Formats: sequence, C-alpha cells, structure tokens
Amino acid sequence: MNVLIVFAHPEPKSFNGALFQTAIQTLRATGHTVVTSDLYRMGFDPVSSRRNFSTVKDPDYLKLQTEEMHASEVGGFSPEVEAEIEKIEAADLMIWQFPLWWFGLPGILKGWVDRVFAMGRTYGMGHIYETGVFRGKRALLSLTTGGPQESYTADGFNGDLQAVLRPIHRGMLEFTGFEVLAPQIHYGPVRADAAQREAWLAAWAQRLRAIEKEQPMAVGRY
Ligand SMILES: Cc1cc2nc3c(=O)[nH]c(=O)nc-3n(C[C@H](O)[C@H](O)[C@H](O)COP(=O)(O)OP(=O)(O)OC[C@H]3O[C@@H](n4cnc5c(N)ncnc54)[C@H](O)[C@@H]3O)c2cc1C
Repeated sequence: MNVLIVFAHPEPKSFNGALFQTAIQTLRATGHTVVTSDLYRMGFDPVSSRRNFSTVKDPDYLKLQTEEMHASEVGGFSPEVEAEIEKIEAADLMIWQFPLWWFGLPGILKGWVDRVFAMGRTYGMGHIYETGVFRGKRALLSLTTGGPQESYTADGFNGDLQAVLRPIHRGMLEFTGFEVLAPQIHYGPVRADAAQREAWLAAWAQRLRAIEKEQPMAVGRY
C-alpha cells in the first residue's frame, strides 16, 4: 500500500511524535510505501486565501470554491497545495496523527483540510460520500487526549468522543469518499507511566502490521 501520514504536533519528541515515528517505521518494515506531511516541520500555512492558487477566475470577489473549481479545471493550484493533493491521490491509506485540541483538529491540520480538500479536485459535481472522489481509499485518525478515557464516555464530563470525532469522520473523510477505520485513541498520555506508553506504542505497531486487512466502520448519517 501507499500510505500518507499527516502529522500535526509542534514537538517531534512528544508522544504524538513517537506515534508518528512508530507508524513510519512499522509500515515501511511491513513493506508499505510511506509518504509524510509533517506540517509544523514544513511550515505549512493553514490560512486559506488566494495563495491557494496560481490562477484567478474572479479578481473582484474571492469565492474560494469558485477559484477551486477553476483551478481544478486548468491546473491552477499553488505548488504547495498541488503537492498535498497529489499525495492524497497516490495514497491507499491516509493517517492523521494529532493531539485533540479544543475538541477538534489542531489549527494547522484543520487549515490543511481547508486548503487541500478543494472543490472540483477532491469533491463536488455529485461526487460526495458513496460517489466521493476518494472512493477506494481508507483513512484513520490517530489521536491523543488530555482527558482520561472515563471522561469521554456518554456519561463522562466531556461526553462521547465518537461524537467529537464525527465532524471529522463524516464531514471531511466520508464526505470525500474515504472509508474510515476505527480511530486509534490514546487517552491522557501525560498521566500514563513510561511502561504504559511503551506498551501503547507496541500495540499501535501491532495494529499497523495488519492494517491492510482491517474492515472500515460506517460512520453514516446518525
Ligand atoms: C490548545 C490545546 C487544546 C487542547 N484541547 C484539548 C481538548 O479539547 N481535549 C483534551 O482532552 N485535551 C486537550 N488538550 C490536551 C492535549 O490533547 C494533550 O496535551 C495531548 O493530546 C497530549 O499528547 P502529546 O503528544 O502532546 O503528549 P506529550 O506531553 O508530548 O507526551 C506525554 C509523555 O510521553 C512521553 N513520551 C514521548 N515519547 C515517548 C516514547 N517514545 N515512549 C514513551 N513515552 C514517550 C513524553 O516525554 C511525555 O512525558 C489541549 C491542549 C492544547 C495545547
């Protein structure tokens, strides 16, 4: 498989960094081809603007989806955005490695989605969900939290984490045609001891060795 791992943490020595490196090493050792987007290291600009494009459809009024449609037709994305779209197009599996920030994606990763998931090239013209552009590809969220596991149940003080992830699973990934694998969640690595964290890294590696055979979960419309 071709695997794209998008990494969104400012500190390479973080636990997220260890999960990222574990995934790269394990997948390569299993025979897969791994391409990465280490967004902080790349200095990726998360602000969606005219800088997304080398072309202009309407110089008087910036409507991003109009410019995205035009850029899709004429090959008018900026090199930075074009490179990221091509990485997704080449991938069989995409993994996002990130810490949960404010019940969502870190801004740098949300901005990557804002700029790279462009209308025309990645969705639209009837190509959404079951007819999505990225049909046949799979995606997996690998995330860490600050809060403990019991706080992320339906009765816990944060509520059900699956509900927190739904806008990402349904609104970004399934919307563009990805089939979604169960998320890899590590709750509160800051509070765990070193032995527990090492066991988590080993379990993550074990899951990745068999990831090619995993069945997706249907997030659906609920
Ligand atoms: C802006 C912001 C918003 C946030 N919002 C939320 C929120 O909405 N909900 C929520 O639950 N949390 C929230 N948090 C907390 C955040 O999710 C956690 O701090 C984060 O997920 C912890 O992961 P980390 O990789 O940063 O941990 P780190 O603190 O980097 O790592 C934890 C420990 O693992 C150690 N470690 C690193 N590498 C290894 C290795 N190879 N083996 C063993 N140990 C290792 C580190 O040294 C460290 O001691 C927020 C934080 C911020 C900054």
